Amino acid sequence: MSMLKLEHVELFYNRVHALRDLSLEVNEGEIVSLLGNNGAGKTSTLSMISGLVRAKSGIAKWGDKDLTKLQPWDLVGAGLLHIPEGRRIFSTMTVHENLLLGGYLVKDQKLINQRADEAYALMPRLAERREQQGGTLSGGEQQMLALGRALVGGPKLLLLDEPSMGLAPLIVKQVMEIITEVNKQGTTILLVEQNARAALKIADRAYVLESGRVTMQGSAEELAADPRVIEAYLGA
Ligand code: ATP
Repeated sequence: MSMLKLEHVELFYNRVHALRDLSLEVNEGEIVSLLGNNGAGKTSTLSMISGLVRAKSGIAKWGDKDLTKLQPWDLVGAGLLHIPEGRRIFSTMTVHENLLLGGYLVKDQKLINQRADEAYALMPRLAERREQQGGTLSGGEQQMLALGRALVGGPKLLLLDEPSMGLAPLIVKQVMEIITEVNKQGTTILLVEQNARAALKIADRAYVLESGRVTMQGSAEELAADPRVIEAYLGA
């Protein structure tokens, strides 16, 4: 069942035409990946979905909600969470304080604590560092904390922008495993990645963006075997 649907989206930053006739769909329960090089429009797509920038035209729906009209905070409260590139951890707050911040729109404190415990169970590394300041975590741990903080918000749809950025291959693998587990526990995921190899390993389907356009789409297996994808995004 379709959960997120973009149709013919056009987006501009003044004269920069960042998204061109962009259409894509994410079904409930899927991990869908958006691949593409620097400047292809991946971040713009996520920002448009979460209401941080507005499309000039086109349709964007999340269930029955019109994403072109709602404000970011309305979407967060309804379960659409966006983890931006760079993670945005509060460096002078502890891991636990950062985690609880994810529940700022959740009224039920018991539910917040329960979700924080679930995040710790999923990422024991965070539990070990509960009282450590966020800024002293490694890049991988900060990415885990950003994921945990989103989980405390109770995501139905999670937008992830380059979770692998700056991480060593082994840590990328761990982060991708955590994302897979989050998905198995019921969260639908739209994953932006420059690391196409890592993304295609865990995604059900993927779209390739080039200069703001979708140039290829298909199942992760199809794309991973496509000579054009191999040449441009997977290397030899
Ligand atoms: P990256 O991986 O480098 O973040 P991306 O695929 O996410 O790349 P976007 O960040 O969406 O690409 O950028 C798409 C295009 O829009 C680029 O040409 C970029 O320079 C431009 N752009 C993005 N944000 C702005 C902005 N705030 N003002 C002007 N131009 C912008």
